[in-house]
Amino acid sequence: VKSIPEALYEACRDTLIFDTHEHMLPRARLSSESVKLTDILEHSYVSWTLPQGIPHSPEAALDALQSVRTRAFYRHWLRAMQILYGFDGDLDAHKWGEISAQVTANYETPDWCRRVFTDHARVSSAILDQYWDHLGDDFDAEVFTPCLRINPLVFGFHPESCDHNGASAHELARREGIRINDFDEYEGFVSTLIRSRKAKGIACLKSALAYDRDLSFASPSRDEAAKIWGRHPDDTTPRDQHVFGDYILNRIADIAGEEGLVFQWHTGLGKLSGSHPHNLIGLVERHPDTTFVLLHGGYPWCREWLSMPFNYINVHLDLTWLPNISPAIAVHTIEAAIDATNPNVLCGGGGDASTAEEAFGALEALRDVVEEALANLIRKDRLNESDACHLAHCILHDNAAALYAPIS
Ligand SMILES: [Zn+2]
Repeated sequence: VKSIPEALYEACRDTLIFDTHEHMLPRARLSSESVKLTDILEHSYVSWTLPQGIPHSPEAALDALQSVRTRAFYRHWLRAMQILYGFDGDLDAHKWGEISAQVTANYETPDWCRRVFTDHARVSSAILDQYWDHLGDDFDAEVFTPCLRINPLVFGFHPESCDHNGASAHELARREGIRINDFDEYEGFVSTLIRSRKAKGIACLKSALAYDRDLSFASPSRDEAAKIWGRHPDDTTPRDQHVFGDYILNRIADIAGEEGLVFQWHTGLGKLSGSHPHNLIGLVERHPDTTFVLLHGGYPWCREWLSMPFNYINVHLDLTWLPNISPAIAVHTIEAAIDATNPNVLCGGGGDASTAEEAFGALEALRDVVEEALANLIRKDRLNESDACHLAHCILHDNAAALYAPIS
């Protein structure tokens, strides 16, 4: 039996979450037909656990899920489904049709996703990373505020140079009605785009470059970058692309500092050989006026991730995804973060999810790990109950609300 002090239980369950990171897909991207159970499974991290993804027939899907049902991604998703769709136990062939019909009905209700976020997950507001449509406005503005994902800008040396999602900076420029003829104009576009998005109310900048390349950024000169400008991707080496990207990224970090835009970073996982949070040290040191938020606990380098705000006052930490990857490591990491960082540094984060169902599961997992870590610290006599409750509010809401002040 877990012994959680009543006040802590309430703080962890009732505090509205300031959700710092979601990828909520527009309805049309989940399915071109009616949305079914397989569609929301396919667009969840559960499908990442299966090398072939989610099979289309319910029988084959159930079979495949058997092999991964003990993983946290599945457990958290299932728990959200049980609450939202009113069933007990695991999915089975009997329940499948009924649940799938209910999924279809829910997605035909315009406010389904909003209700999951506000009524079930108890989210006050959420930051949206629309990697499928960087400048898009197909989202529920009652709940979501977009960030600007900067990946394509870092690869913009040529119109045919794209990031790992196939996004091109030159395509974004066309959408904005901006013509780019030379490197000067490209630099101008990067600056104009970020500043105009800021004026439109974006929450922050977001880098998912850990899926494109390593996270160590040098500081090449403008001349070095200018030499790569305009060359076809086939006529560049990986090193050329790095030099160009490093130069532009430093410019983006400058602009973030000037505009007071928080710069979120995916750290850990991704391209595992280069995603270590310490790779960002040079960038963080060169931009003391820019606030960097390192996402995902830097998993698996959670301890190294914790050392960043210890040395750099312009670094904040965000747990997004970690409670869904491993609650065990998340609990341990939160305890260590409370020991080793100031109370305003750690944000609980968001669900990092493409569907409301998965976001709810991930955010319940976040509430669980915050509660467990704080209860452990009370039990070990490292925190009193009132400090623990205060920290629960800080982690779930207040720290993010202070960081992303314009939208809270
Ligand atoms: Zn994400």
